[in-house]
Formats: sequence, C-alpha cells, structure tokens
Amino acid sequence: MRVIVIGAGIGGASCAYHLVRRGVEVVVVDDQVVGAATSAGAGIVSPWTARQVGPGFGLAARAGAYYPTLVELLGEDGEQDVSFEIVGALAVSDSDADLAGVVERLTERARQWPELGEIRRLDAAQARQLFPPLSDELGAVHVSGAGRVDGRVLREALLRAAQRRGLRCLTGRAGLLVEGERVRGVVVDGERVEADAVVVSAGAWTPEVLAPLGVRLPIEPQRGQISHFAVPGADTTAWPVVLPPTGHYLLAFPGSHVVAGATRETGSGFDHRVTAEGQREVLEHALRVAPGLGAATLTETRVGFRPATPDGAPIVGSLDGHPEVVLTTGFGPAGLTVAPFAGRLAAQLVLGEEPEVALDEVAPGRFSRR
Ligand SMILES: Cc1cc2nc3c(=O)[nH]c(=O)nc-3n(C[C@H](O)[C@H](O)[C@H](O)COP(=O)(O)OP(=O)(O)OC[C@H]3O[C@@H](n4cnc5c(N)ncnc54)[C@H](O)[C@@H]3O)c2cc1C
Repeated sequence: MRVIVIGAGIGGASCAYHLVRRGVEVVVVDDQVVGAATSAGAGIVSPWTARQVGPGFGLAARAGAYYPTLVELLGEDGEQDVSFEIVGALAVSDSDADLAGVVERLTERARQWPELGEIRRLDAAQARQLFPPLSDELGAVHVSGAGRVDGRVLREALLRAAQRRGLRCLTGRAGLLVEGERVRGVVVDGERVEADAVVVSAGAWTPEVLAPLGVRLPIEPQRGQISHFAVPGADTTAWPVVLPPTGHYLLAFPGSHVVAGATRETGSGFDHRVTAEGQREVLEHALRVAPGLGAATLTETRVGFRPATPDGAPIVGSLDGHPEVVLTTGFGPAGLTVAPFAGRLAAQLVLGEEPEVALDEVAPGRFSRR
C-alpha cells in the first residue's frame, strides 16, 4: 500500500511515522510555507488543566497521556532526544477564590486522568522558587504532570525516524489528483504521484487542498505571535509552565530560555507579520505575570497560523464520499498536544482499522451535517 501525506507539520509528520511503523510505503509532500504553526507553537502539553471542556477534550486528554509512549517508540527508532519533558505547571492567580476553584476542578479531573499528577496549593514565595521572575502577588496551584515540547525538534525527530524506515519526503506544493470520482494521488510541480490513499494534514491551508473536491471545511488561520527571551544567568531547564487565567502563558526550555505567548488573532488571514499591537500584548501580559523578566533579552518573536475550527475541536477522520482521503488537521491552539496521537489514529483509519478512540466528535462530516 502506498500513502501520500500532504503537510509535514506535527500532524503530517506523526501520521507518516505511524504509517511507516506499520510497514506502509509513505511519501510526505510539504511546501515549507512561511507561518506553519508547528514552527511557532509554544509547546505546552497539559490538556487536563484546560479551563473549559468542549468537544474533543477526551481526545486531547488521551493525546497528552500518549506522549511517554511516543517518546519510547521514537527512542526505539534511534531518536533519544525529542525534547519532551514533564516539568509541571503553575496555574497562577491573585485571587484565592479562583485558586480554590482550580484545585476543586483539577482534583475532580485527576480521578479520570491520573496523568495530571499531584495537585498542590502554593503561596507566592513557593511559586517564585519554581519560577523566579513571577510576581510576588500571585499564588499558584502546582500540577506535576504537565509537559513541554519543542514542536520543531519533535517534528524533525518523527521525520528522521520515519525516513530510516523508508519514508520519502518531497518539497513542493501538492494538489489533489482527482480522476473520475476518486482521489488517485497528488500532483507536485507538474509531477503525478499516485497512491492508494491521501492523508491531508495541511494545517490552516487544508481548505484550499480540498477545494477541488467541492469540500468546504471551516478551518481559518488564526495568527499567533509569540516571543522568546534569554534570561541572563538563569538556568531555566526545570522551570514549570505558567498558566494565568487570561489564556496567555509562559514556559521555559533548557538553557536560559523563556517563551511568552501568545496572541490569538481570529480573522488575521495569512498576514505573516509581527505587529506593534501584537508585540505590546505579549509583552504586557508576560511582564504583568512575571515582572522579573523585565531585564531579559527579547531574542525573537515567531508568527504562526493556528488551523482554527468553529467548535475548537480538531478534524480527524475519512472524508464523506472519499474513504481514500483521511484528514488529520484543524488542531487550533492544541496541535502540539493532540496531533502526535491523532496521527496514530489517522494511520489506523488509512489501514481500514477501527481507531482505538471514538472519533465522532472530531469527524469531518460534523460540519456538513449541520
Ligand atoms: C503561537 C502558537 C502557540 C501554540 N502553542 C501551542 C501549545 O502550547 N501547545 C499545543 O499543543 N499547541 C500549540 N499551538 C498549536 C500547534 O502549534 C498547531 O495546532 C499545530 O502545530 C498544527 O500542526 P499542523 O501540522 O496541523 O499544521 P502546520 O504546522 O501549519 O503544518 C502544515 C504544513 O502543511 C504544509 N502545506 C500546506 N499546504 C500544502 C500543500 N498544498 N502542499 C504541500 N504542503 C502543504 C505547510 O507547508 C506546513 O508545513 C500553538 C500555535 C501557535 C501558532
């Protein structure tokens, strides 16, 4: 069996990897567009701490729990450092009532999702021991099971591991090759590449890939601007993720590296710019929560387009009327968490198997049924 995967972000890379592990011949096509979400994503892996539970929550929670297994599989395939670490998270707030609500909500969730880990109420001084730049006015709830990953590193590891198992990677823009009523493969820069099935994992660009089939999926690019800092003299390797009530956040990576995110600009289109307003928003929120970052060096601001859906849930499943086309896309703000596991489920669909998790809530057909 030969399968083509359109898109080599975290979604396509994961699906390709899981397919080659099952012995399938796979070709990935990617046009290396500017603004791919995987290259900009922050990397928080903590689905269980979400403030609200909507459609797709069960899938996200399972996906978070899948990470250690994926790390093990990649280790077997020669990828020892895929950047995933469980570093814990601090839900921070200046309101005791808010933090009491967080403890209550997370204690309830931990019954179903033990991966969430231990839950501890911390005062401001204890929180600052874990994340020194924090404001001394913020108390916290510490959750031990939250993780972080560098999306670029994981994506590369998935592709390298898959290539060792025979994956072929092509660079170029893929268009669907439709003949009769069926998708027979893709055309890349005029070259036909035929396949038994096509996986579409083209992020915010998915609608234009599907347009030739007359399918309109409501995925919109949502711009995210996210800033990186070097913190002189600090070893940030073990610093936890910081989750304020606003939806903005901070996280750290090995070395002296802190990331502050992010704008959520619905209606941005594919306008790939760092804007004055976006930079102000990110800095203002970061410094309110962590004034100790005031002297850090602003090293970079990245811009990526989240593939956002109207109900906030991803799109994983076969296309109605086209069982040979499988989608794993629409991951919005949570693709670095969800897409690695969704890729495994999409591979199961391609192989004609019942996926190990029910996909009704995230099926592509939910939009046409409305
Ligand atoms: C600022 C920001 C912060 C984020 N933070 C987090 C976080 O903390 N935790 C989390 O879980 N998620 C986070 N996300 C979300 C996550 O990054 C995305 O959901 C995820 O990366 C989407 O991956 P993808 O593979 O679907 O899409 P993308 O990474 O956008 O990849 C799509 C790929 O398809 C290719 N492509 C498109 N059309 C074609 C075509 N016709 N032919 C060939 N190739 C094509 C593109 O070149 C691109 O490489 C964040 C996102 C942003 C922007």
